[in-house]
Amino acid sequence: MKKPAKAAVTSHDHEHCIEDALVAAERLCAEKGLRFTPLRRRVLELVWSSHKPVGAYALLDKLRTEELGSAPPTVYRALDFLIENGLIHRIERMNAFIGCSHPGETHRGFFLICGECGNAQELESDSVAESISTSASRRGFTARDMTLEVTGTCAECRRP
Ligand SMILES: [Zn+2]
Ligand SMILES: [Zn+2]
Ligand SMILES: [Zn+2]
Repeated sequence: MKKPAKAAVTSHDHEHCIEDALVAAERLCAEKGLRFTPLRRRVLELVWSSHKPVGAYALLDKLRTEELGSAPPTVYRALDFLIENGLIHRIERMNAFIGCSHPGETHRGFFLICGECGNAQELESDSVAESISTSASRRGFTARDMTLEVTGTCAECRRP
């Protein structure tokens, strides 16, 4: 079974989220024999700076003042690396990136995006993926990749 998603994404000690993400990334790269370079690490850390998806330009802006070799192609390559290895996801509709809350597990990019605070939570639902696959295959379509981006209002923002 998968870990339950963190319920409250705004009122918590976010330092722990960042720490957990970096530790998980280190472990995953060690297991796969991948190099977790200082830039890859820094980009992951910046993507994890909050639960709001962050755009490439914002990342480039932040990295410009640092010394890790922040030329845009290098940063894009670091982002590609993080996506390919399941450490972050791209939120298509916002053209932005978000840290993966359970890296290392095969899963779909399903997200609940709050229109009020801008936070995005990963939705872990195998049944959604199954029902899409089933409906698709009824039409003779083999589903390979799926992303789902649901907008609305999160529990924190709905609190009176
Ligand atoms: Zn957090
Ligand atoms: Zn994920
Ligand atoms: Zn919200």
